[in-house]
This record gives sequence, C-alpha cells and structure tokens, in this order.
Amino acid sequence: MTLSAARGFAVDYGRGRIAELVRDVGRYVVVTQPEPWALVEATLAVAPTRMVTAGNLERDHLDRVAASLTDVDTIIGLGGGSAMDTAKWLHWRTKLPLYQVPSLPSVDACFTRMTALRDAGTVRYEGDSVPELVVVDFDLIGSAPNALIAGGIGDVLSCHTALWDWRLGADAGRDHAWNEEAAARGRQYLDELEAFAPLLRSDTDQFVQRLMECHRDIGWLCHDLGHARFEEGSEHFFAYCFEHVTNRTIMHGELVTLGVLVMSHVQGNEPERPRRIAADAGARTNLAELGVTWDEVATAIRRLPSFVEEQGHWWSVANGLVVDDALLDSVRAVLERSG
Ligand SMILES: [Zn+2]
Repeated sequence: MTLSAARGFAVDYGRGRIAELVRDVGRYVVVTQPEPWALVEATLAVAPTRMVTAGNLERDHLDRVAASLTDVDTIIGLGGGSAMDTAKWLHWRTKLPLYQVPSLPSVDACFTRMTALRDAGTVRYEGDSVPELVVVDFDLIGSAPNALIAGGIGDVLSCHTALWDWRLGADAGRDHAWNEEAAARGRQYLDELEAFAPLLRSDTDQFVQRLMECHRDIGWLCHDLGHARFEEGSEHFFAYCFEHVTNRTIMHGELVTLGVLVMSHVQGNEPERPRRIAADAGARTNLAELGVTWDEVATAIRRLPSFVEEQGHWWSVANGLVVDDALLDSVRAVLERSG
C-alpha cells in the first residue's frame, strides 16, 4: 500500500537532477551550507552567480541579503532546514523563481510555505512561498548515512502521539475542533510509514520517495487546515522543552522520534508501535547513540507541564501531568529497551 494521491508542491524524483536543473535556470544564487554544497559542487556544469551560506535566520539579515540579489534570475535552496527557510524568505522578498533541493528526507521545510524566522531566541513563522519545483535527487540524499535518512521519520511518526493529544484537547473543548478527515489522513501517514520503514536498507530510493510523499502531503494538509494539530503534539513540546532546558539541540527528526517514544508511553497509547516502526527504519533511539543523557531527558520531562502552560502550546497529555519518580523510572525503562 502506498499513500494515495499525495497532494502539495510539484516534486521531481531522480538521479543527476541537480546538474539538470542548473542548466536551465539562468543566473542563479545557491542558498546552501558547506556540507551539502561540497557534495554537489563538482557535478555542476554551470556555477552559481552568487552563493549565500544559510544559518542566520534573523529577518534584518535576510532582508539585506534579499536586497543585494540584483544580478540573478533564480533562487536555489540546497541543504537542510535553514537553507530551505532562507531560500523561501529570499523568494518571498524578491519574487524570483524558487527551486528547493533538500539534502535529507527529514526536511519538511521544503514543503511548507512559511519561513521559520529567529527573533530574540524564539521562532516566528512568516511569509508565503511556493517553489516552482522541489527536486529530490537520490544521488545527493543517498550519500547521507542511513541513520540520518531514517531520522526523517520523526515528523511523520509524530502523528501517533499528536492525534491522541488532539482527541484529548478536542474532547476537553480546549483545542481546534476535531476534524475526522484530517485525523484519518494522519492515520494513513502512520500506516504508510509502517509499511515502508523496513525498506531503507534494501531500497533507499523507494524509502526516500515514500517518506517525502508523506512530508509533501503533510505540508499541504497543514496549509489547508490552517494548523498542524494532527502532526504536532506533546512529542514536539517535549522536543522544544528539551532544547529549552539543555540549551542545545540534536537533529529535529531524531529528537521528535525520541519525543514520540517518551510521550506515547506517558499517554498509554500503544507505545510498542512507534518503537517497532523506528526500529524497522533503523532510526537511532538509543540515548548513547543520540548523544543524549538520561538526566537531560528527565529534566525535560520534569519541566514539561509548566513549559507547555508558559508557552501556550496546544492541549496535550503534558498539561497537568504529575511527574513523579515512578513515571520517570518507567520512561527510563522504556528508553533502555530501545536501540
Ligand atoms: Zn517537526
């Protein structure tokens, strides 16, 4: 079974696609990061007119870069989330045609319209950018280690815990009204993910394409609904809280996957299912492999109930959660069985 009729931005899958793209777009600026650029630079017959290194997502900085783009015809974003977000903002400001080339399948930023700007330490979503085309080049993505490719499941797996939280919030009258069609779509993403997760080792291209088709449809559904409630719940709030208490982060998809394992257990919501899916894909969930300590996880869980109130996050199992030693011990036991 595959996801029926994914909707969203135009996307092209294949090999050697970046080299083809740059032949036809005129003078282009590439918005990228050193690692993905090093992988493709030598394969391109046409060099970029300009290069912008992504990283600084402050609005004033991006506006200055946009104003300087007077000598190019096209914007190409190439890399991870910050490259996609930067390229979106430059397109929003200049209206030059935009092409997005993600370097990992964790990057749903290529399928969303708004840019995640950084503003005094918080994230603000602004703009509305639709690319001409998202180019998924299997040569580029396939050069990443499997564990990083597998990390891309996080923002699909999150439907498992997010849908449970949405039901809780909707029933309590504290959330976006329940939408059965959107919820059913969320369950389809999970079924689809469960079906293709084991393919990463045997058929990386198919794994990548089916995962990207989920991200594409999720991006479309978020825009259509006007919110991401089916995909964002306590697993993301755990991730944001982890970043808050540790003042650092790890790869978004891996952190969210960890959040799903923790919060599905707290919810009493079939926790063995996301654990099995993550294991099938070969996603890293073991704390040592992730470079995360149990103390960091425990600190994030303890802080979570007050954090979601302060931040005004959507209603979830985290609201009013009593975090005692018994709960922490049981979460620790679950995580030590993983990986
Ligand atoms: Zn996410």
